[in-house]
Amino acid sequence: MPDRYAVIGNPVAHSKSPWIHTEFARACGQQLEYVRIEAPLDAFGATVEAFRASGGRGANVTLPFKQEAFRYCAATSERARAAQAVNTLVLDRGAPWGDNTDGVGLVRDLEVNLGFALQGRRVLLMGAGGAAQGVLPSLLAQGPHRLTVANRTPDKARALAARFEGAQGCGYPELAGAQFDLIVNATSAGLAGDMPPLPPLETLLAPGALVYDMVYGRDTPFLALARSAGVRTSDGAGMLVEQAAESFLTWRGVRPDTRTVLAALRRR
Ligand code: NAP
Repeated sequence: MPDRYAVIGNPVAHSKSPWIHTEFARACGQQLEYVRIEAPLDAFGATVEAFRASGGRGANVTLPFKQEAFRYCAATSERARAAQAVNTLVLDRGAPWGDNTDGVGLVRDLEVNLGFALQGRRVLLMGAGGAAQGVLPSLLAQGPHRLTVANRTPDKARALAARFEGAQGCGYPELAGAQFDLIVNATSAGLAGDMPPLPPLETLLAPGALVYDMVYGRDTPFLALARSAGVRTSDGAGMLVEQAAESFLTWRGVRPDTRTVLAALRRR
């Protein structure tokens, strides 16, 4: 019987994690099974317990359970505590332990795959939900010159930024007149074919800026607008593969090569 892992979310049918982890396992010569589990919205903990009782060794957690997963864990990594959200559960080493690999996944995609060093840069993070919360500490750890969090509901951006020294929160209109080297869209607006109500994008972009949208597998209005402004863009596929590699490392003790899997994911 192969070791069992899962991604738990609601909805979860769209998740690429089973394919990614199966590719990692193949490349590393490991035997494992990785499935999707849709947990009822009111039964995340019971779903994890049932999976664990059936031999589940670890799980990824996706929308909308990352904050609940943080509360579920008996112990967590420092980066999960900073984010107050868990996307990686370790279930085979005593009490459930949780980690958050979203931030390191984004940073590796930016710095290693895209060659964009964050130190000294002016960074705009759009959104104040689970994804923004998960990546903010990791972005700050790279020493940007400035990190601004903007959100449609400005109070959420201010509350999130207030938890971290070096971050400022605001609403979109307050961005007028500012310039950024990196804009990261951590909103779910693109999933609805929408985009955050930014001031004109060209006015926000410093020369050589990079525009990043965490959404993957579809073109978003935000990325289309950035392309039409002539700037370099990236979707969130690299972040997805990098955060998965970090989970795989935690579970299996080996870091898979992400380049081939990312290239194959983009071809699919
Ligand atoms: P979430 O907790 O539901 O938060 C959604 C955020 O988007 C909120 O800040 C919300 O603003 C904002 N928003 C939604 N619609 C908007 C609109 N029309 N205009 C402006 N802002 C809007 O979701 P999440 O967990 O943070 O996920 C956000 C996105 O990141 C999702 O698309 C997800 O797929 C993606 N993601 C990708 C990866 C990856 O590995 N690539 C990992 C994690 C997440 P309000 O607060 O004002 O409602």
